[in-house]
Amino acid sequence: MMLDIKTIKRKSLLYKTQVEYADYTINHIIGCSHGCLYPCYAMQMSKRFGRIASYDEWLKPRIIPNALELLDKEIPRLKHKINSVHLCFMSDPFMMGHPEVTDLSLEIIDKLHKNAIKTTTLTKGLYPYKLSQIKNTINEYGITLVSLDEEHRKNFEPNSSSYLERINSLNELHDLGFKTWVSMEPYPTPNIFTQDLLLILEKISFVDKIVFGRLNYNSKISKYKDNQTFYNNCCDQLIRFCEDNDIEYYIKKGTYRP
Ligand code: SF4
Repeated sequence: MMLDIKTIKRKSLLYKTQVEYADYTINHIIGCSHGCLYPCYAMQMSKRFGRIASYDEWLKPRIIPNALELLDKEIPRLKHKINSVHLCFMSDPFMMGHPEVTDLSLEIIDKLHKNAIKTTTLTKGLYPYKLSQIKNTINEYGITLVSLDEEHRKNFEPNSSSYLERINSLNELHDLGFKTWVSMEPYPTPNIFTQDLLLILEKISFVDKIVFGRLNYNSKISKYKDNQTFYNNCCDQLIRFCEDNDIEYYIKKGTYRP
């Protein structure tokens, strides 16, 4: 098969992540067309480890063409240890403008499903309809959502899907009976953007779980002196909302400090 996307082979794929709310993960892509400017931790790490040289290079994703072969080798060895596999912390499995990335992500989710392994996903893109044909009700499909304001999105996630389309694509999966979740991270402080958290929460009240986390890697955060009080208030509001609406929640370490 001829691919319109650059590729890079790997020797291994599945690994145990250090991320506090996840188990195993896969990074089957290097780079991400969304080009987030929070800044993107994955891009910073890729630069540090010499996988990319520049932001422009980061915007042109490369996929791992032997990802499925690697899974065939690794799943039998690791299956008994795995609770779930997350796609993905170092890129976006359903990034805009790259159907090859979406196709590979779908094939990986399908392979994990056929091996009775739960997948969790997170995207700032759009979920394809084909995903609903993988009849797996233990998988959890998520979007990142830190605002409803399109100007804010364009400033920080210039090439991602619009917030409304993103929410709608998640809502469609929810309506089809799949588990859905939202990652509200990195949530901006008011010196970056002022907004009403409750309005965002009301828009996503259909989801099963919300993960909330502070902004860490942005120099503006230290300029907002009351940032801890701000995040504590957000957490209180989010917890109240989730308890009232029967939504599971997870507050990331360091976000709430009494
Ligand atoms: S979507 Fe995620 S991986 Fe892609 S640029 Fe944004 S933060 Fe980085």
